[in-house]
Amino acid sequence: MAGTLRLPGFVNAHSHTFQRALRGRAAGSDFWAWRDVMLAEADRQTPEFVRDAYEHGYREMLAAGYTAVGEFHYVGVPEARAAAAAAEAAGIALVLLHVAYGRGGLPRFRQDSATQYLSQVEELRADGTMVGLAPHSVRACPPDWLEDVGRYAAEHGLPLHVHADEQPKEIEECLAEHGCRPIELLARTGCLTARTTVVHATHADGTELDLVASHGATICACPTTEADLGDGFLPAERVRTRGIPLCIGSDSNVRIDPFEELRELEGIARRQTGRRGIFSTEELHAFGTDVGARSLGLYSWPEIEVDLGHHSLRSVEPEYVRSALIAGCGADVVAS
Ligand SMILES: [Zn+2]
Repeated sequence: MAGTLRLPGFVNAHSHTFQRALRGRAAGSDFWAWRDVMLAEADRQTPEFVRDAYEHGYREMLAAGYTAVGEFHYVGVPEARAAAAAAEAAGIALVLLHVAYGRGGLPRFRQDSATQYLSQVEELRADGTMVGLAPHSVRACPPDWLEDVGRYAAEHGLPLHVHADEQPKEIEECLAEHGCRPIELLARTGCLTARTTVVHATHADGTELDLVASHGATICACPTTEADLGDGFLPAERVRTRGIPLCIGSDSNVRIDPFEELRELEGIARRQTGRRGIFSTEELHAFGTDVGARSLGLYSWPEIEVDLGHHSLRSVEPEYVRSALIAGCGADVVAS
C-alpha cells in the first residue's frame, strides 16, 4: 500500500499549551501537588514567552494531525493576544477559550468582576480572534459569575467550555458550598446548554450525566492527561448509553497525539465493560473531528493526509485502515 489518505483534520478541543513544559514533572504525588508546579509555571508566562512556546506547541499539534485547537486560556489578556499570534504563525485554527476566574488560583488569572471579564472577551473579539466563554470551574467562579457568563454566551451564540468533576475534592467542596454537584450548579446557573462543553466529567454521577444529555451538552475527554494526573476514568459506557457527544483534548499536552486519545477512550470503555468495539470506528473519528469542531463553534478547518506507506500500516487491508489508525498507529502516521 502506498500514497496518502485524506481525512478531516483532528480538533483539539481542550489545550493549556503552556503546560507542555511540565511533562515528566511532579510524579510521585497527586493532582493537587502537580497543580502547585503548574501554578509556578503559569506565573512565569510573558507575552514573549507565550508567543514563542505556543508557536512550537501548535506546530507539534499540526504535525500530529490536529489542525484546530481550543486554547483554554487563563494567564492574562496580553498573553491571549500572543497565543492568537502564535496560532496564526503556525497555521492552526484557534478558538481562544478566554477564562473567567473569580477566586483562587493566582492574581494574574483573576478578573475583578464578571463585567470586567466580559469586557476582556469583547476586546479579544474586536481583534478578530474567535473567542469562546470559559468559566474555569465551579471552584473558580461563584454562581453570580456563572449566571452572567451563561447569559452572555446565550445572547451572542458563543461556545461555553468549563471544567467539571475532574477531581473528587472539587465535588465535595461544591456540595458543601452549594448543596449540589458541579454539573447541577452549571444547569441551575444557565451554563449548561447545547453550546456547552463540560471538560472531563470524570466523576460525574448518573444525575449529572442525565443533565448533560437532556441539555444537549458535549463532554470533552482528555484521557492521556487524565491518566497522567491520576484523575480517573471517563464513565465511558454511561456516557455512551445516554448518547452524549464526546470530543477530545490534549489538555496538559503531556502527549500530543489524537490517535492515542481516541484509542484510550475506546480502551477505557473496553476495560470497564469487558467488551470490544463500544464505540464504532466512525464514532471515534467523529469525536476527534466534527464533534470537537462543533464544540468550538468551528465550521471549517484544514484536512490532513495520512501516509499509507507508513510501517504501522504495513499489511493492513484498505477496509481496515481507518480502524487500524486508531487501534494501532501514532501521530507519526500523519504525512508532513
Ligand atoms: Zn483543562
